[in-house]
Amino acid sequence: MHGQNPVFIPGPTNIPDRLRQAMNIQTRDHRAPDFVEVLAPVLEDLKKVFKTKNGQIITFPASGTGGWEASITNTLSPGDKVLVGRYGMFSHRWIDLCQRHNLDVEVIECEWGTGAPADLFGERLAADKAGEIKAVLVTHNETATGVLSDIAAVRKAMNSASHDAMLYVDCVSSLGSMDFRMDEWGVDLAVSGSQKGFMLSTGMAIVAASEKAMEASKTAKCPRCFFDFKDMVAANAGGGYPYTPPLQLIFGLRESLDMLFEEGLDNVFARHFRIAQGIREAARAWNMPLCAKTPDLYSHSVSAIYVPEGLNSDILTNHAYDNYGVSFGVGLGEMAGKAFRIGHLGMLSDVLALSGVATIEMAMKDLDYPIELGAGVAAAQEYYRTTAGASLSKAA
Ligand SMILES: *Cc1c(COP(=O)(O)O)cnc(C)c1O
Repeated sequence: MHGQNPVFIPGPTNIPDRLRQAMNIQTRDHRAPDFVEVLAPVLEDLKKVFKTKNGQIITFPASGTGGWEASITNTLSPGDKVLVGRYGMFSHRWIDLCQRHNLDVEVIECEWGTGAPADLFGERLAADKAGEIKAVLVTHNETATGVLSDIAAVRKAMNSASHDAMLYVDCVSSLGSMDFRMDEWGVDLAVSGSQKGFMLSTGMAIVAASEKAMEASKTAKCPRCFFDFKDMVAANAGGGYPYTPPLQLIFGLRESLDMLFEEGLDNVFARHFRIAQGIREAARAWNMPLCAKTPDLYSHSVSAIYVPEGLNSDILTNHAYDNYGVSFGVGLGEMAGKAFRIGHLGMLSDVLALSGVATIEMAMKDLDYPIELGAGVAAAQEYYRTTAGASLSKAA
């Protein structure tokens, strides 16, 4: 019966029944003339989630990493300089990806638990009089540490430095769960995927490119074939795909967008905030700090929680899995063994969140953590109990 338990990993996320059914489709001919009626509205509606008017939506059959690779290779040339902060496992992986594509990667090392260093970006850009830096790369929601970065602040710093670099943002674990404003924040490339806020199976990378990024793609020299923007955009314009599309995910996205719009994006974000807040109340009751250093950095889609010194968080997550059949996120990179993560994005309610808090609490008690059984659950219950009601009818 373990298959009935929700997962509390920060992606892939739990799949609502409605989306599992939407993805269960018979083969259709993607070269049929009416396929455009399936694909075009999905691409158009995705713009509303990115909050872009003129951005170009580009999808690929890939996980989020493929979306990042596509963004880099379509808009940059080998040797181009990019500026990036390393403050978690995901920002680290983007650095690695850029290095393997022979970009000149300038890394700003940041303490894990902090976010994108807008001020340092600004200083560095202001000093770059020759305009060598072509792009600034930011992970919006650092899933390894549960840190949400302020993209508006990064844009402001770039503007203050009067620098022309493009802004690339990984929003894989934030889009559809927390507010994202591509146009307002002047984002040139936004990268996401199907398996987090969209609550679908893994397999579709979802990218939004600004007009400036599309212009850069005309001269960028990094090699690409499968991930070529040009081929995808041209095929999409005719209603098709340059190769076989992941049909089930296109149908799934249609339904996922409908769900998000029915609930209302603002209500979706409010739900994520409220669920996250209850989990943070539980962590406080356990007396276990979050990796995120300050409340303004708190992610509402994942919480990374330090276990007490001398205890190993991997043993905790393994115990929860082995004894209760529930998955939690392990500590990644510098957080390995020191922190576990509770993913709380996508299809989640307060009731489901409580089951996660209760489960990890049982595992802690089994392993003699210095906690009182029920303390975290009670703290979350109290928060949910006193904030319930408002969004329930819309989130049905
Ligand atoms: C999940 C995730 C990714 C993408 O990972 P894939 O496994 O390639 O889909 C990228 N960045 C962040 C911040 C993520 O959370």
